[in-house]
Amino acid sequence: MENYNMEKLNFERPIIRKINTGISNKFGMKTEFEPIKHIDNVGVKGLAAEYGSPVFVLSEKTMRRTFNDAKRAFDTRYPKVQFSWSYKTNYLNAVCNVFHSEGSWAEVVSRFEYDKAIANGVPGNKIIFNGPDKTDDDLNTAIKNDSFIHIDHFDELYKLIELAPKHHKKPKVAIRVNMDTGIYPMWDRFGFNYENGEAWEAISKIIISNKLEFTGLHTHIGTFILSASAYAIAASKLAELAVRIKLKFHKDISYIDMGGGFASSNTLKGSYLMGIDTSPSFDDYAEAITTALINSDIDPDNMPLLILETGRALIDDAGSLIGSVVANKKLSDGRKATIMDFGVNLLFTSFWYDHKITPAQDFSHHSETTTLYGPLCMNIDQIRESISLPPLKRGDLVVVSKVGAYNMTQWMQFIMMRPKVVLIDKKGEVHIIRHNETREFVESLEEVPLHLKKAKDVNGNKHKHNGKPVEIDSKN
Ligand SMILES: *Cc1c(COP(=O)(O)O)cnc(C)c1O
Repeated sequence: MENYNMEKLNFERPIIRKINTGISNKFGMKTEFEPIKHIDNVGVKGLAAEYGSPVFVLSEKTMRRTFNDAKRAFDTRYPKVQFSWSYKTNYLNAVCNVFHSEGSWAEVVSRFEYDKAIANGVPGNKIIFNGPDKTDDDLNTAIKNDSFIHIDHFDELYKLIELAPKHHKKPKVAIRVNMDTGIYPMWDRFGFNYENGEAWEAISKIIISNKLEFTGLHTHIGTFILSASAYAIAASKLAELAVRIKLKFHKDISYIDMGGGFASSNTLKGSYLMGIDTSPSFDDYAEAITTALINSDIDPDNMPLLILETGRALIDDAGSLIGSVVANKKLSDGRKATIMDFGVNLLFTSFWYDHKITPAQDFSHHSETTTLYGPLCMNIDQIRESISLPPLKRGDLVVVSKVGAYNMTQWMQFIMMRPKVVLIDKKGEVHIIRHNETREFVESLEEVPLHLKKAKDVNGNKHKHNGKPVEIDSKN
């Protein structure tokens, strides 16, 4: 046991561990057993002291580096590439603006996100409007702003044909296509199906209507897709549609949008191999998609713009959650459990991922298996069912890595309020990009009807409801 700072040693109860023979450790568990004391050279302890625990920390450096990795992978393989930031993956404005400053357009799936993109200064003609629920007002706004409207179903298609003439211009539309790429279950609830001819029918109806400008083809085959070849299949099918459009309507489409869905290097629950070893790289995805397009029969002089709506793979690695230990306890069957100050309220992705969780201070080389729970009063609030960690005591800090995607949009205000989010910029300066919620903030949307307010006002007068004084609970 090492003890450099001469403090009293913490008692660690002796444990008996079965020695595993064989190759149980071939993935270098060592990385999990080096403390993470810094994020981009900023001390974790200091971050927690200044901004509280838990706190989300985003690295601008990692975001930009990851984006440029992805961009390079595609730019070196295809002549015209455009990224479009998927707002729902993380729509904190600071995050969106990092990607916009790198040249990304905005990809939105609701009016809320659409208005956010406009407020972030994204020109209307650089916004892609996806999603199954666009109101007439949403469609009119998108038409006015020259945004790309990705049609999800026939009702939306007919609605657009109806709305278009009032605008004296042709709304720019694409269709979302779903298809069999060998990934199951198929996401066939969005868009028009390729195999049964529905997509072709939608395309023909749009072009023949002569009221809409058919700009492109879109697909989004799913999320955390571990097979690059699924994208090759998807790209070939969209390319076939493009070729068929050229044959029948003598029209070149302007873009093919391959959606998002690239995996990050997180480890999926129950997977034997670590994510870092199994997730395809940007180069793998880029190779699959661009090869399929280049090998297709699309006119080489009129290759469509290739749009990518990558979300998760661009932001996951850039996010960390610093949290601390609330308590250790023993479950009825003798297993160890550790309660943390963050739970599934902040880490929605712990339903899918075995997050990498690392102590932020020095520790002994002993480790034991524990279950990590969050602080919520509900049974499903479990961060890791079983994780091997050195003994941690109340107040010890941990860093949960790769939490940048979806957690800051799917988090819930249940029992606890949401904590601060900070961004470390390229110079190592720390900026609050979202304040922690307060009771006043949460309650600012509430109204209490008069008869449910306290029975007496500040002057001691009784409130009346239906002519009778309001009764109050004496405990109030
Ligand atoms: C969610 C979504 C994305 C981003 O998906 P990731 O898995 O985060 O890359 C892209 N396009 C559409 C239409 C989406 O719904």
